[in-house]
Amino acid sequence: MSRPVVVRFAPSPTGPLHIGGVRTCLYNYLFARQHGGKLLFRIEDTDSQRFVPGAEDYIIESFKWLGIQFDEGVSFGGDHGPYRQSERREIYKKYVQVLLDAGKAYYAFDTKEELDAARAETPNFQYDASTRGKMRNSISLGMEKAQELIAAGEPYVVRFLIEPGEDVLVNDLIRGEVKINSSILDDKVLYKSADELPTYHMANIVDDHLMEVTHVIRGEEWLPSSPLHVLLYRAFGWEAPQFAHLPLLLAPEGNGKLSKRDGDKYGFPVFPLQWNFNDKETGESKSYSGYREEGYRPEAVVNFLALLGWNPGNDQDIMTMEEMIQLFDLSKCSKNGAHFDIKRLMWFNHHYLQECDERILCDELKKQVLENGADPKSDEYIKTVIGLMKERINLPKELWGQCNFFFAAPEKYEEKSLKKWWKPEAPNYVASLCDFLEAQEDWNGESLEPKVLEWIASKEWKTGAVMNAFRVALVGEARGPQIFLITDQLGKEESLRRARVAIERLA
Ligand code: GLU
Repeated sequence: MSRPVVVRFAPSPTGPLHIGGVRTCLYNYLFARQHGGKLLFRIEDTDSQRFVPGAEDYIIESFKWLGIQFDEGVSFGGDHGPYRQSERREIYKKYVQVLLDAGKAYYAFDTKEELDAARAETPNFQYDASTRGKMRNSISLGMEKAQELIAAGEPYVVRFLIEPGEDVLVNDLIRGEVKINSSILDDKVLYKSADELPTYHMANIVDDHLMEVTHVIRGEEWLPSSPLHVLLYRAFGWEAPQFAHLPLLLAPEGNGKLSKRDGDKYGFPVFPLQWNFNDKETGESKSYSGYREEGYRPEAVVNFLALLGWNPGNDQDIMTMEEMIQLFDLSKCSKNGAHFDIKRLMWFNHHYLQECDERILCDELKKQVLENGADPKSDEYIKTVIGLMKERINLPKELWGQCNFFFAAPEKYEEKSLKKWWKPEAPNYVASLCDFLEAQEDWNGESLEPKVLEWIASKEWKTGAVMNAFRVALVGEARGPQIFLITDQLGKEESLRRARVAIERLA
């Protein structure tokens, strides 16, 4: 009988979570939900040198924002804890001992200098069956001597004893069968006495086993570790999980991995949330931008990331989390790296901004209006403007630039629009139109429009020439929604005032 699906997301808390890690976790989440399984959250903090305070909370907050829920793990509890590797030292020690007792691992005492010397002497030096006899370890020295050294306090590591000449098969759900020969592997360090901690490989596979993980879905960068992991499972006599190594996230151009520098270069965040930190060298406080703070919708980030390396094969772009859970398929993930395309993310964001609770956009617009020293008028007014304008934005920060004329009269008139529409006849058109409008009792755009058009026709003027000149006077340039929607919002007094000011200023 197959075991119930258990997957895990196991970041090392070495800083803010990169967007590639977000995608890895998302795929694990989709897979777990699809199979009615569980998603665990484990912190792999055995490398104390690279530990960064705050990183763990940052990761938790990121997934909360994105709507990705864990079933077990750090801060979520569960039956397989503790879920922080730094709190599992005794467990690892026990399993290191199991391998030592079975003769599948051994103690090694080589100092850094000795290892450097061996590397200098033998080109492509590898600590393995062909060299370990010449090094200082419990195989070359004998166990008795090794125990003596340990008792005398000499630092040591425990290495995995790899038998050469064996085929190692990794069955990868995305890449198919990956076969390597064990002779190319070296006797990896599993444990270091210096910090009494296991290395990544040891802790990772012990935990995956104890936490009953059935599928290891992780980034392509871990593919080279998987044969070693398979051998470790074999050494313990444990069933190995199924592996699936996801394609790399690539920079927008070229074949390089998506890096922080690409984000800076192309002007988009590569982290879910803003990350504040102190520059180690200068002590300056700095920050990396985050999708949340830049105004991206979590649904947009999730939808975009889901399709970065996977597609359901049916041209469908917009998907709810539920749909993605239904459709997700590891075997349809690409083997090739996926280029990060910020324009596509913008497209998704545009879509989800249209769908999100309008109050979010209203609050944002109100904030921007106030920041620009203008009067937001009323909530009703803001709401109407949002209704008219939201389809024009990809990010909330674009609101003021698009909507400013609803709140403030133009300070200047755009050159190109003037050239096109403020022809010598324009002042006359606009002045006459003002007189006509002044006489109108009913200022409702819908009833106003046919009357104005009829009036222009009676003058034998061109509608475009009159109305665009009027628009430039009201807005400051030839843009914005239908003109009668603008006059509706501005009201009679303000519309006429702006038109007359323009005539005066542009004279
Ligand atoms: N701690 C590793 C990381 O930071 C986990 C790799 C794995 O999923 O096995 O991504």
